[in-house]
Amino acid sequence: MYDLILKGGRIYDGSGMPSFLGDVAISGGRIAAIGRTNAAADRVLDVGGLAVAPGIIDFHTHFDAQLWWDPLASSSVDHGVTSVVMGNCGLTLAPCKPEGRDALIGTFVRVEDMPRATLQTGIPWEWTTHGEYLGALEKRPLGVNVATLIGHCAVRQFAMGEAAVEREANDEEISEMEKLVRQGMTAGAFGFSTNANQRHYREDGKPVASRFAALDEVARLCRVVGESQRGLVQFTHGAFASPEHVARIGQWYDTILQETRRPLIGESVRHFWSEPDLWRKQLDDVEERNRQGYAAYAMTSTRRSMRRWTLKDSTRFDEMPVWKSVMSLPLDQRKEQFLDPRTRADLALAMTESKPIGFSRRWDLITVKKVARPENKSSEGKNIDDLARLLRRPPIDAFLDLALNENLETTFEDTASQGDEPAVKEIFSNPHVLLGQSDAGAHVANASPGFGYSTIMLAHWVRERQIMSLEDAIKKLTFLPASIFGIHDRGLLRRGLTADLFVFDPATIDLAAPEKVTDLPEGAPRYIQRAKGVHYTIVNGSVLMKNGAHTGVYPGKVLRSV
Ligand SMILES: [Zn+2]
Repeated sequence: MYDLILKGGRIYDGSGMPSFLGDVAISGGRIAAIGRTNAAADRVLDVGGLAVAPGIIDFHTHFDAQLWWDPLASSSVDHGVTSVVMGNCGLTLAPCKPEGRDALIGTFVRVEDMPRATLQTGIPWEWTTHGEYLGALEKRPLGVNVATLIGHCAVRQFAMGEAAVEREANDEEISEMEKLVRQGMTAGAFGFSTNANQRHYREDGKPVASRFAALDEVARLCRVVGESQRGLVQFTHGAFASPEHVARIGQWYDTILQETRRPLIGESVRHFWSEPDLWRKQLDDVEERNRQGYAAYAMTSTRRSMRRWTLKDSTRFDEMPVWKSVMSLPLDQRKEQFLDPRTRADLALAMTESKPIGFSRRWDLITVKKVARPENKSSEGKNIDDLARLLRRPPIDAFLDLALNENLETTFEDTASQGDEPAVKEIFSNPHVLLGQSDAGAHVANASPGFGYSTIMLAHWVRERQIMSLEDAIKKLTFLPASIFGIHDRGLLRRGLTADLFVFDPATIDLAAPEKVTDLPEGAPRYIQRAKGVHYTIVNGSVLMKNGAHTGVYPGKVLRSV
């Protein structure tokens, strides 16, 4: 007699091996059998036609604060996330003394765009050490499983007070920090995170504390992680930097890798039109570290950063002088110019010959997002190249005729990052690259929130663009992060392992539209984003989410590294 049987799904077990039809039986929170079973169960879910996969492991979140008022970690659970790792980018809420609380809040406010009032009200501060933080969390209901990293900024603030944002640490202070990291690792943290990003400041304008660390401090703290023989180091440093800073980042990399001999998650690799070869160089760097024998990894975002605009008020073309001069004309004159064949020829030429850095110039990457007149509805969703082919007109004419027909009110969309598909395919397929840097829990006012990176992967990149098999994509979203972090009993569907599962329809899974809600403590607004086509999120053997609704249970656990 099993607790739960998922009957007749297609099993993607997380290993990347070919999927197959079968049942998954669950007992006592663990996978009891995979294959064909005729045994009875308390509950049987017919999952015929659906994919059954390990739960998504969102390894780069900032849920440190949110879990205290939102134990579901919404909207991540809507997308099949069953475990989250928080404490990334050097930021944690523990260890922390009472007098350091405001400094940590100020860091989250500025770096992670979270409202101060929300953090002031929502964080219960029932802890001093990292272990006490985990213990306090354990007493709360949790929807998802939670793993933590120890944040360098918190450790530094604890050991040095406000001197943490003024100077390098002395020997005694570093010894104190070593002790704090050792305590955290012993309590079950999955590693240490640090941050050298020159763009990261506290709310009061001071650089975040970890940026003041000398190499010796980084070395000694990482050595503690290495000695624990568990977990990893996560290193945030930003992609665009001066040559001097790039050299400094290189020293940090070498130090972290040599001192820990543990996995390192560093570079955030993305394709930007503004620096179209940067990703290649970043991947080369990761591969070189790997050739030297280090477990070096990078991460990437599956979300393309989209720009939406109309020809009424856009600055999207401003890097091309001829476009800019037309776009700065009053509306009536602008429309006249858009009609003029000679102007059109100049505008079209600029699209092929100028070299803007923030804009792709590619007609096939500009999409008609929303038309203003119902009779143009059939153009919605088409890119300008497709539209031009249908109309048998040059793209510039198809583009401007549609806009003029709608009094320049047509909404277009194009991508600023992750828009170059061959580049994206290479980045995503690289064995050293993890998929997902959701920053979930942070940047709450962003209208395209980071939840749902796995859904974007499965819907857009796998189903629509077919850049990777579903098996490989699932492996990258589950088994790979579980293995790198050392979450050894999850991320794979195997008899005996923990029953964290995600059941979805590969044919329909997709993002729902983002929604603005005002559910943060003190009533601040945030954006959430649900999923379509996700049938079940199952955590530790219990159905947490069914068709997008919480079932009322809280089966999540605090995970501890062993
Ligand atoms: Zn982050």
